[in-house]
Amino acid sequence: MTVTEDSPAAFGDTPDGDQDSPVFGPGIDPDRMAVCLSVLDELDKLDVDHPDAIAVRRATAGIYRTVKQRRRQERRAAKTAHDRAVTHATATGSAERIDDETQGLLPSSSATAEIAGILQRPRSCYICKTRYVEVDAFYHQLCQKCAAENRARRDARTDLTGRRALLTGGRAKIGMYIALRLLRDGAHTTITTRFPNDAIRRFKAMPDSDEWIHRLKIVGIDLRDPAQVVALADSVVGRGPARHPDQQRRADGTPLPARVQRADRRRVRPAARR
Ligand SMILES: [Zn+2]
Repeated sequence: MTVTEDSPAAFGDTPDGDQDSPVFGPGIDPDRMAVCLSVLDELDKLDVDHPDAIAVRRATAGIYRTVKQRRRQERRAAKTAHDRAVTHATATGSAERIDDETQGLLPSSSATAEIAGILQRPRSCYICKTRYVEVDAFYHQLCQKCAAENRARRDARTDLTGRRALLTGGRAKIGMYIALRLLRDGAHTTITTRFPNDAIRRFKAMPDSDEWIHRLKIVGIDLRDPAQVVALADSVVGRGPARHPDQQRRADGTPLPARVQRADRRRVRPAARR
């Protein structure tokens, strides 16, 4: 779906087939409306400072203000609905998005073009902060330039044979994708997670796990506990560098480690503090 126009939610079919005409509910009784109009006509002939004329002007000014507010709210709601529909048409912003690596369910866009739609309210790119309105069909939070760069690198591969990688938070979503890439590129990979049994189940469910599962080490750890972090660091250092068959060594001949740092934004809940 490519979304470029306003949602027609406030409009509908009328008996004469005019789809652009708004549909209204029941109005004011015709007799009472006739009385209202005749009173207004009468008031128009009164002296402008007459108390009755002033009372009616105050009442109608209130109505005018309310109408302006309601129209503004309707315009805002229409923009919000439009931009939400554009976002939902992308792969990463879809409301139906379900990431399940073990089921082979990857983010996908319902848009058929490279652009999912045009925003009515410009958005700041998550990476470069540039304001943009053209929304990429895959990355709903990136400007076109950053989306193209990320798309080009999304499936990049390299030979990591003999390298050792430590990945914090590798059980699911982006962490599992990174771990799978490291493993499929040949690295000995250690991941940390608070749910190691679930991690084992998820990695074993991958159809090609036989090819790399022997290079995967899963460490159950809570990174909010400094003692556990220190113990993990000691254990990694104690294992020493993996042997690398050829290049990518330091000047002294030891192989460079592979390292992935994830910006984990999970906050420590008050209950977890001491
Ligand atoms: Zn950008």
